[in-house]
Amino acid sequence: MTETIDVLAGLVAAGGVVVLSGAGLSTESGIPDYRGPTGAARRHTPMTYQVFTREAAARQRYWARSHLGWRMIARAAPNDGHRAVARLQAAGLVDGVITQNVDGLHTAAGSGQVVELHGRLDAVVCLRCGDRSSREELDRRLVAANPGFDATVAVVNPDGDVELDDERVAGFRMVDCTCCGAGMLKPDVVFFGETVPVDRVSRCFAMVGRARSLLVLGSSLTVLSGRRFVLRAAKLGIPVVIANQGVTRGDGYAALRVDAPLGRLLPRLVDRVAPGVTRASGGGVDGSAPVAVVTPVAG
Ligand SMILES: [Zn+2]
Repeated sequence: MTETIDVLAGLVAAGGVVVLSGAGLSTESGIPDYRGPTGAARRHTPMTYQVFTREAAARQRYWARSHLGWRMIARAAPNDGHRAVARLQAAGLVDGVITQNVDGLHTAAGSGQVVELHGRLDAVVCLRCGDRSSREELDRRLVAANPGFDATVAVVNPDGDVELDDERVAGFRMVDCTCCGAGMLKPDVVFFGETVPVDRVSRCFAMVGRARSLLVLGSSLTVLSGRRFVLRAAKLGIPVVIANQGVTRGDGYAALRVDAPLGRLLPRLVDRVAPGVTRASGGGVDGSAPVAVVTPVAG
């Protein structure tokens, strides 16, 4: 185990690291990872772009559930893993972060050079005029348009998933864009069935191309949207390290595999390679706890 952390520390200490993060990095902030080892099966199939834009009823259901579940995301704070990445960056070892997460927690932890591959849930875009606005502002408008809606629906699950019967959904009133007056609003995130903007993908490929190593944190690499950067790094001969609880679809390309809770692994890593860098506020790392299972993969 110690040996593997030595290898990991050696790679990170060399600098030029690009981080690719996924849902597993945010689970310790209370945001569920439906594909992770502890994630329950998703109760609702994810919304696709096609259904969202075509069906008013589906849109109404999405916003009604999202209006309730949003509070959980809005409350979430960065954890030791996010802070560790920011510290590695402050130490000059991490050049940039590509995240598949839409929770904004990397930037909240103080990271810069973050590409939010799938957008941000705290922003809203108008599909007619393209105006971008804040989710907080929309939240205020929805509260005003739906007085008492929260109180009548006391079925927000602890993981933010929401059960809503059709009658309640039918009573939910959605609002439109204030900029053009009639445009359909959509959270500024990439839905299933939608592609990531080309310039955003190019930026990520450029980052990967300049990297000395690619460090995957908390992603099962199920979706090609993130996995393609692992494939690119492997093709360029850039070592890929995958730290994730459970197997991933990129394991065959990894020079090193670490199976450990990131909130414990990453602070330990930072203490090894950048001990002088001030920890961001918060903390509370249990230094005595052992890092779980560490599995090196040939490659
Ligand atoms: Zn508009």
